[in-house]
Amino acid sequence: MRIDLHTHSNVSDGSQPPADVVASAAQAGLDVVGLCDHDTTSGWLEAIIAGEQLGVEVIPGVEISCARGPVGIHMLGYGINPRYAELADELERIRNDRVPRAKAVVRRLNALGVEITWQDVVGQVSNETVVGRPHIADAMVARGVVADRHEAFARYLNRSCPAYVSHRVLDPASAVEMITAADGVAVIAHPKAGRGGAQVSDELIANLCQVGLVGIEVDHPDHPQQIRPALADLADQLQLVKLGSSDYHGTGKTIAIGQETTDPQQYEALRHAMRRARWGWEGARQG
Ligand code: AMP
Ligand code: ZN
Ligand code: FE
Ligand code: FE
Repeated sequence: MRIDLHTHSNVSDGSQPPADVVASAAQAGLDVVGLCDHDTTSGWLEAIIAGEQLGVEVIPGVEISCARGPVGIHMLGYGINPRYAELADELERIRNDRVPRAKAVVRRLNALGVEITWQDVVGQVSNETVVGRPHIADAMVARGVVADRHEAFARYLNRSCPAYVSHRVLDPASAVEMITAADGVAVIAHPKAGRGGAQVSDELIANLCQVGLVGIEVDHPDHPQQIRPALADLADQLQLVKLGSSDYHGTGKTIAIGQETTDPQQYEALRHAMRRARWGWEGARQG
């Protein structure tokens, strides 16, 4: 069984519509694909219908923007009830704040002598898209300012770079609690990715277990091979489910769908936790 539990569609910053992401998953020989767009669940229905047609199991997820001090953190919520108002309203507030934030990034870029307009950015987003730095990067590529998204991030958009502006985020412990309260399962995404900012400490990962964290991404394209064994050991110590995922963004990144996968036994453990969470059993991670 081939399982890739973290992908993005064009309802956030991936390049393909949700149904096409699932079609790509089928082409890559995946049996299970997770759709985890940033701060939105709006791609779920299209992806699930495509999955039914193509014989691919679609696991609905969301990647919630969080931060603790200077550390940017992404928290995955699998199987949440999208009608749970506290979480849905918070996701809406985060999405809404992305627009003034992106405009502020454009102003910073202008001040740095990069001539792009808000209309350039709008030209990069599909209808109903959660606007993010990748769209700004794409606008810069279209203008010929940089060669690709990677250069845009390295020179301008990373946390440590001059055009970086933050947006509304959740504290990671609140995100874990809200995901759990919404009958979902919380998994911390790429905690050791860094990406031009600080990494998530082992201490914080342990603290998040106290509030209900169920899993952790160990195999991720942004995790160098040499750090993975220690991260897997930490996960075992904390009794966390270990995931492997591509974080596929379509043409937005060079990573192929299914390039990293989750072990079937770990997937089974995640499914057990999701089933328990569905029934509101807060002890989802204890078994
Ligand atoms: P935002 O949510 O607007 O802060 O943007 C974060 C997104 O930017 C993440 O989903 C990453 O996939 C993407 N990203 C971060 N660094 C890079 C990079 N160096 N190249 C391409 N995409 C990146
Ligand atoms: Zn992204
Ligand atoms: Fe992420
Ligand atoms: Fe992601």
